[in-house]
Amino acid sequence: MWHNNVNVKVVLLGDSGVGKSSVLLRFVDNYFKQDSSPTIGISSLKKTLHVNDTHIHFDIWDTAGQERYRSLTSMYCRDANAVILVYDITSRNSFNGLKAWYCGLKEIIKNSTIIAIAGNKEDLVEREEIPIDEAKEYANFIGAIYAKTSAKSNVGVEKIFMDIAKGLCPDIN
Ligand code: GDP
Ligand code: MG
Repeated sequence: MWHNNVNVKVVLLGDSGVGKSSVLLRFVDNYFKQDSSPTIGISSLKKTLHVNDTHIHFDIWDTAGQERYRSLTSMYCRDANAVILVYDITSRNSFNGLKAWYCGLKEIIKNSTIIAIAGNKEDLVEREEIPIDEAKEYANFIGAIYAKTSAKSNVGVEKIFMDIAKGLCPDIN
């Protein structure tokens, strides 16, 4: 059968421990591990979503948040179609970290690259340190998609990837 193929390269960025690898594992394998081991360097996983006649092939790059990998990650962001900046909603520090990640990122990405912000660990909302309005306002300010996610309870994860695909190919609906 005829179908349209779209390739989407996504890079996950954010401080260590915010849940980047967990979001990726949830999206690709629909699985959550309470004690995931830290990512070393950079690795990638693939996942295809089917929307009507379109097959969206995601190639998702997971990075380590450590400072020493920043120059390496910039190499991967240069040709990314989308970057997901992840923070942990219970950590003000990780939100500040996200802003720092964005400052570095905006120097190297193309204008067409979609930026998404994922406020992860939404299942821990009672410990939230960043008011949702503040996070949304920042997303608005930098022209990013905003979503709350929980890799643990599977909230918002597939949606953020779908929103990215829709942003890149407006004819998907
Ligand atoms: P990374 O360093 O950004 O890749 O973060 P990890 O994916 O390794 O996750 C760090 C820790 O946070 C792990 O113990 C995860 O189990 C936990 N974690 C990740 N996502 C969530 C979430 O949505 N909710 C909760 N409660 N814990 C999470
Ligand atoms: Mg990781």
